[in-house]
Amino acid sequence: MGLIPYKNEPGLDWSDEANVKAMRAALEEVGDSLARNYPAIIGGERIEVDGEIVSVNPANPSQVIGRVAAASEREADMALEIATSTFESWSRTAPEARARILLRAAAIMRRRKFEMLAWHVHEGAPPWAEADAQLAEAIDFLEYYAREMLRLKDGVEIYSVPGEESRYFYQPMGVGVIIAPWNFPVAILTGMSSAAIVTGNTIVMKPSEYTSVLGAKVAEIFEEAGLPKGVLNFCPGYGSEIGDYLVTDARTRFISFTGSVKTGLRINGLAARQIENQRWIKRALVETGGKDAMIIDDSADLDAAAQDLVTSAYGYAGQKCSAASRAILHADVYDEVLAKVVEKAKALKVGVPAEGGVDVGMGPVISEPQFEKVAGYIEVGKEEGERLLGEDPGDPAEGYFVSPTLFEVDPEARVAQEEIFGPVLSVIQARDFADALRIANDNPYGLTGGVYSKNRDHLELARHELRAGNVYFNRKITGALVGVQPFGGFGMSGTDSKAGGPDYLPLHMLARTVVERF
Ligand code: NAP
Repeated sequence: MGLIPYKNEPGLDWSDEANVKAMRAALEEVGDSLARNYPAIIGGERIEVDGEIVSVNPANPSQVIGRVAAASEREADMALEIATSTFESWSRTAPEARARILLRAAAIMRRRKFEMLAWHVHEGAPPWAEADAQLAEAIDFLEYYAREMLRLKDGVEIYSVPGEESRYFYQPMGVGVIIAPWNFPVAILTGMSSAAIVTGNTIVMKPSEYTSVLGAKVAEIFEEAGLPKGVLNFCPGYGSEIGDYLVTDARTRFISFTGSVKTGLRINGLAARQIENQRWIKRALVETGGKDAMIIDDSADLDAAAQDLVTSAYGYAGQKCSAASRAILHADVYDEVLAKVVEKAKALKVGVPAEGGVDVGMGPVISEPQFEKVAGYIEVGKEEGERLLGEDPGDPAEGYFVSPTLFEVDPEARVAQEEIFGPVLSVIQARDFADALRIANDNPYGLTGGVYSKNRDHLELARHELRAGNVYFNRKITGALVGVQPFGGFGMSGTDSKAGGPDYLPLHMLARTVVERF
């Protein structure tokens, strides 16, 4: 297959009035298509079910975005059954043909870009540029994993002894259960699903309840791309109702999960048990949360550091697993950096992304439970330290808005140790660089981390000693690019499966060694 070399999908230029116009038109068009019903899709059939998920706009919770089937164990069982039988043919389909489906899905996403962005802005309420970056990431996953499959389709080189031929290659694994979070509802769902599919597996796809309409759109795009029926079985539902069933079933070969550490640990535990008729040890790819630190050293470019800290902490209302939630500032520049951060964060425009346009820098948080959680942590922070920025959240009935919030605290404070997943930044003072590194590492998570410094010795120390799966120097710590910054953490942040990297696809396959003596 002759393909152009991989390159990342460029972001839209929002200074171009044509893009702004196209986005407004798409928002209006999608606005006329709200509150529709979305069934489950199992074996290519639309399945109506009794239960429903009512997905609402977080910026205006009285607005229904869509009514999505809430699958029960009955539909989960159907999905696993169809995925199991379809595995026989899909696993024997040529890797090139599988890769082609991903490339077609990428082309469809490009073609439907503004429509997809509009759905995202309505259902998840990210700022436009965030939605665009996430859709670009979804397209990148499709393009990158298609090429990765072509690279790996004949296996990899090993050595042979004289008189023998040794081959090392991969084969599909079985039925995968894909469980995704709401915060990257198109990108992560597409990435996890496409990796599983292109490697020859069949899947049961469960999006987050809060972004189920976007889940339905992703399923629809794979269908439009020509994916055979039964390869992707769209099984929306409440994790609390069907999650355990899908994870524990004997037909499930692997689980690919991204979400909170609490759910991830539960899945990991359940997947480890063998139940009747189970013929394998299940594989669980579990990618979870973070409490990501940015260290700002005394030699740093303080303006750039403050700007990138604000972007990393408050972009998408802090709802990225990679978001900076701890700022660790060298004592000698502490006051100066803090003043710059407060000034820049105050300038962020908080608003309704669907209405406010491209200038809205921060929308609401995703849901009422998330709003309550963040509001609860704001109360904790007020007890633990000093609030230098932010107000008490208002009435959630008017949208789940939380203003950019900043606490000055000790490193042991709960707001500096636990993942909040909202626009709340904890600022901690460090005596020197060694102290800053110690504070950064004194946390069970290990997802992203960053250092702003001009001191080469400090950067080299952090290169190896800062405990995080993704470490960034002198830049923001969010927005990992597929194929350029493979993404995933260790510690309590996950199994370090590194999405968008060269090791990711083999995690979805079984490696075989075949030796023939001549
Ligand atoms: P979550 O509450 O753990 O939910 C994630 C998914 O798991 C949802 O689809 C959820 O369904 C499902 N689920 C819930 N209970 C389940 C169960 N018992 N069995 C199986 N599945 C179950 O996480 P979230 O709030 O959606 O996502 C935010 C978290 O994701 C944060 O911690 C963030 O750091 C993390 N995250 C990590 C990465 C990474 O790459 N490491 C990337 C993005 C996000 P329902 O929606 O129906 O509850």
